[in-house]
Amino acid sequence: MKRDDATFIEMWNAGTDTDVLAAHFEREPKTIIGWATRLRQRGHDVALRVPRLDASEVKKRKCMGCGKQFRSMHVGNRLCSFCGDHAGRNSHLEGVTR
Ligand SMILES: [Zn+2]
Repeated sequence: MKRDDATFIEMWNAGTDTDVLAAHFEREPKTIIGWATRLRQRGHDVALRVPRLDASEVKKRKCMGCGKQFRSMHVGNRLCSFCGDHAGRNSHLEGVTR
């Protein structure tokens, strides 16, 4: 666990995205900020970072393109990554924010 902390601090201070950290350490993204905070409180040299997105904004939403549930990063994010990548070529999806 100590080794994990060191790796975490290294990646965190390098500006690694919380989603990437979560996947790397197999934790929920929402626990990553708390982990960094705990380490900082214990006196570790952990950089202060403003969350890129409000975690409460991240939730499952229905894709306006294909209708499937996907992990939407914010209220304006209504297309899954697949449909978002193809939005430019699908005229019926024009004007939909990624
Ligand atoms: Zn879709």
